[in-house]
Amino acid sequence: MIDYLIVGQGLSGSCFALECLEHSKSFLIIDNDYMSASKVASGIFNPVVLKRFSPVWRAKEHLKQMNTTFARFELLLKSKYLEYMPLFRLIHDKNELHTWIQKSKLEHLKDFLASEFYLNPYPFVKTLEPMGKVKDCGRILLKSLFRGLQILSSRGKVAYKRIF
Ligand SMILES: Cc1cc2nc3c(=O)[nH]c(=O)nc-3n(C[C@H](O)[C@H](O)[C@H](O)COP(=O)(O)OP(=O)(O)OC[C@H]3O[C@@H](n4cnc5c(N)ncnc54)[C@H](O)[C@@H]3O)c2cc1C
Repeated sequence: MIDYLIVGQGLSGSCFALECLEHSKSFLIIDNDYMSASKVASGIFNPVVLKRFSPVWRAKEHLKQMNTTFARFELLLKSKYLEYMPLFRLIHDKNELHTWIQKSKLEHLKDFLASEFYLNPYPFVKTLEPMGKVKDCGRILLKSLFRGLQILSSRGKVAYKRIF
């Protein structure tokens, strides 16, 4: 007898599996391995909407929640799933430059938008435009996370995954 049936192993299904694991509830994950928004979005997180340099709704709270949740995954599955890395935004013209400078001084954005500008650090990106650095960005290592839950199932613990 299984306690919960989880349909879909994206981020939501995985978070629900985490709750089950922590509460010693058994579960069965069914996934058709078809189209996953989590995989398409490739696990990238970024607290700023870079079209207008405005903050994502409740970004700080969400980042805090994400860190707590992934610390729990890491404790249970004994692997790291969060990788922080800065994100660079091309600054196309003087207007954007001015907007960035103003916004990076604002209380709710100053922790995310670096006030200084950078030269392109990537040899594969061909541009001479300056770049603004966004902090507190990164990616969730989704494949490893999904694999971690599968490995747990192969060890005969409470997680299962069935593809049909
Ligand atoms: C390009 C892109 C950018 C995004 N950017 C952001 C962003 O910046 N910020 C943000 O908050 N969100 C963003 N999102 C949205 C976010 O990625 C999704 O809301 C989130 O990943 C959804 O997770 P989920 O687990 O609910 O669904 P999914 O990841 O889609 O997982 C659902 C799983 O269920 C499986 N499935 C579906 N139907 C069945 C069935 N009948 N039987 C068995 N299995 C089934 C699918 O194959 C899939 O694996 C973005 C999405 C995309 C595509």
